[in-house]
Amino acid sequence: MEATSHRFKDNVHEALGDANLQASLAKIRSGFVPKRAAAAAALPEFETLRDQARDIKNHVLGHLDIYLERFAEAVEARGGKVHWAETAADARRIILDLARAGNARTITKSKSMVTEEIALNDALEKAGIEPIETDLGEYIIQLAKEPPSHIIAPAIHKTKEQVAELFLRHHGRYGKTERLTEPTDMVREAREVLRQKYLDADVGITGANFLVAETGSIILVTNEGNADLTLSLPKRHIVLAGIEKLVPTLEDASTMLRVLARSATGQEFSSYTTLVTGPKREGDLDGPEEFHVVLLDNGRSGMVGTEFQDMLRCIRCGACMNHCPVYGTVGGHAYGWVYPGPMGAVLTPALIGVEEAGHLPNASTFCGRCEQVCPVRIPLPRMMRAWRTREFERHLSPASQRWGLGVWAWFAKRPRAYRLVARTAAALLGRMGRSQGRLKRLPLAGGWTRVRDMPAPEGRSFVAAWKADGRPTEAPGAATARRHRGSAKEQGR
Ligand code: SF4
Repeated sequence: MEATSHRFKDNVHEALGDANLQASLAKIRSGFVPKRAAAAAALPEFETLRDQARDIKNHVLGHLDIYLERFAEAVEARGGKVHWAETAADARRIILDLARAGNARTITKSKSMVTEEIALNDALEKAGIEPIETDLGEYIIQLAKEPPSHIIAPAIHKTKEQVAELFLRHHGRYGKTERLTEPTDMVREAREVLRQKYLDADVGITGANFLVAETGSIILVTNEGNADLTLSLPKRHIVLAGIEKLVPTLEDASTMLRVLARSATGQEFSSYTTLVTGPKREGDLDGPEEFHVVLLDNGRSGMVGTEFQDMLRCIRCGACMNHCPVYGTVGGHAYGWVYPGPMGAVLTPALIGVEEAGHLPNASTFCGRCEQVCPVRIPLPRMMRAWRTREFERHLSPASQRWGLGVWAWFAKRPRAYRLVARTAAALLGRMGRSQGRLKRLPLAGGWTRVRDMPAPEGRSFVAAWKADGRPTEAPGAATARRHRGSAKEQGR
């Protein structure tokens, strides 16, 4: 996938003007958010589980080499094969070689963000192999030739009318020519089309939610069961997973699973939780004859031991983006690469470079909700701040911003000068806006006042008000806000 993260601001303008997208994003606020809150409230030990999940991942990251070796040995002891991919190009080459060795013409895939990360579908198509996404959301965006806009709900930006249109355009060749209106009919039709694809597939490719070092198992969770058909019907099953997906034991995996579904969709458990350990064995009724696990680094090991190591705890639940006011306003495509929202704002610069993705860590109000809901307690705001520092140090931010920050830093280090300037500015701005209670224009802040007014300051700083009046009976600014509300009412707004 070609990254457009450097065009974040243009992407945002496009997203804000997209009425369909805005309507779709409202579904997140009314769906995922209250469901997660209810699921967390219903489990008294939820907060303890979050601590345990964080500690499990920290332990693994502290001993990554040991657990990787242990996992690889366990996979091979059970008849599977492990392949090591240092880069995205290595992973594509390994998977293409495996597909060609199996004379693959059709490959079924279950939803996997890491295959998006390495742009696997493009590589397969160029090699004359047809990849078929089997997760319904992924299938929809594959037909639309778009990337996912959410890590657990890839087609959340699509309306049902848009989906009906896509099906009408693409399903005619399977004899399906009716324009559908009901989501249940669309699901049925997609199922009928995909069923034959499952039977035709020579290879099945999945990701993995977790890799269990003690048994060499992979764990997959879905709500559609599509991963189970993808991995069990073809002769060859290829798993692509990042090296950070490891957990030491099955017991640890069960802790992770208890926080994953609750944080992602508000379910106690996903509808299908599948453990796969090696290929089909004698006496097994089904399963692949070959089981390959491709372990992808692609910049992850470079994060270990740095201020971004905590990001490797991520279990891709999507809770941070569901609760992010920025994601909730602009959607996932604006972020311009595979991983959107707060987790993308930290991970994307680490994987494709802060030069390409420097805008993303700035796409945050620092409200902190992402960290509050993250099941493995990743300090996302702290890491976004660290990327901003790097962006500043490497002179990647605009000159005006750098100059402004430089001036602010000069004053911040000199409290007397700071207080003098703050006092003068508060008095001046207070006087300028006193008559109307708001400021319609501000020098150097045209971007802000172009779309909204700024409430006029009280005319003195909080510290000055505190010193003069003792503990204020109302918060500074309340009087202005009252005036502002009154004036808005007068104008019938
Ligand atoms: S950063 Fe945390 S909340 Fe966001 S996707 Fe990863 S695990 Fe979930």
